[in-house]
Amino acid sequence: FESTFYNAIKIIEEIEAKGHRAYIVGGAVRDFLNDRKIHDVDIASSATPTEIQEIFTKVIPVGIEHGTVIVRYNHQSFEVTTFRTETGYTDYRHPDQVEFVRSIYDDLARRDFTINAIAMDKKGKIIDPYSGKLDIERRLIRAVGNPEDRFTEDPLRMLRALRFVSQLDLEVEPATLTAISKQIHLIKHLAIERISVEFEKMLAGANFRTALKLFKELNVWTYFPVLHFDRSLIKCLYDLPISLLKLYECFAYLKMKDDQVDMKQLTKSFKQSKETFRNAEQLVTSLVEYKVDGLSNWLIYKFPESLYESFFRLVKALFHSFVVGDLKARRKHLAIQSRKELAVSGTDIIIWYPDRAKGQWIQTLLNRIEYAVVENQIDNNIDAIKEWVNSCHPPENN
Ligand code: ATP
Ligand code: MG
Repeated sequence: FESTFYNAIKIIEEIEAKGHRAYIVGGAVRDFLNDRKIHDVDIASSATPTEIQEIFTKVIPVGIEHGTVIVRYNHQSFEVTTFRTETGYTDYRHPDQVEFVRSIYDDLARRDFTINAIAMDKKGKIIDPYSGKLDIERRLIRAVGNPEDRFTEDPLRMLRALRFVSQLDLEVEPATLTAISKQIHLIKHLAIERISVEFEKMLAGANFRTALKLFKELNVWTYFPVLHFDRSLIKCLYDLPISLLKLYECFAYLKMKDDQVDMKQLTKSFKQSKETFRNAEQLVTSLVEYKVDGLSNWLIYKFPESLYESFFRLVKALFHSFVVGDLKARRKHLAIQSRKELAVSGTDIIIWYPDRAKGQWIQTLLNRIEYAVVENQIDNNIDAIKEWVNSCHPPENN
């Protein structure tokens, strides 16, 4: 406990030294009790955002009106939220009113599921009024309080339940499941951005197939953009041999499975960024190339390193094969790392052909040289390149 939560405990000690109370809450407590890897650590405190700002030097006010700030501590970020309750979500997006409260018990009462409504003090002692620990042991997702009321308050919780099924391999407790089946239609009011976050996490979980089964049985998909008019897409996702971690991987996968899929439309309807679309498109282009030519030097050269992991996953998902070797190492051993390292430039080419007017042909020729060097068809030195250009690739007359 001490080593996992080292920095969080330090933060709690500093807050408590000023006479307030503070606890580790949410996913970190749940994952710790469930022997899972811990991501971010959230802290709940009786101190107000202003009081937190006075205690720590680096505080980012991300949601002061909801009582949330981020405290940077030893190069780590911690969300510190004031104990609060919420009343009503008439717009289905934000609680109408957030009220700061005195007790951690009132704060835990507003949380969605029993497994998420456990607090831990700085010594590791748990405060668990809804028997969340027992539910972790029984492997159940159970709403805190009356499930129907809780889902009417914020319908996103129903999608969160499915996401936890996928991530944590838990089952939805019967009364909670019944409430979901009754209330699922309310998700049509939610902002698609909130839906997308949960959907992405659901697909990324190890048990995405169990979650997708519920997704189908509870007719959740009918409230989803694009998916609702093409049921085969759900089937496609269900057939995935491994989970995909990002929505753009999912878009690329669907496109590879069915050429009719419009990735622009998918991106737009899930309100994803242009970057999501670019990544999906980059992945599809490379996967098509990979399918035809395998893993060429050129593919490795053109492909951004930030998408390597996604590419691996998709190759595995689509072709049931592993990418051979270490892409990063292969990239390092290419003849050049970028166009700048090419031994010739536009200026050299102009000198070689003094009689020819400048034009697009220079770029075209450079592209061909770049390709030939990357593919080891010529050495990257000026004489070899000049000879290669003269012998087999004289530039066109334009
Ligand atoms: P993750 O591992 O994905 O971060 P998490 O459970 O920590 O999972 P967060 O979205 O970070 O999820 O939320 C932190 C905590 O805030 C949750 O554990 C839960 O107690 C509470 N919470 C989050 N969203 C809701 C919601 N829509 N309704 C009620 N409580 C919520
Ligand atoms: Mg969290």
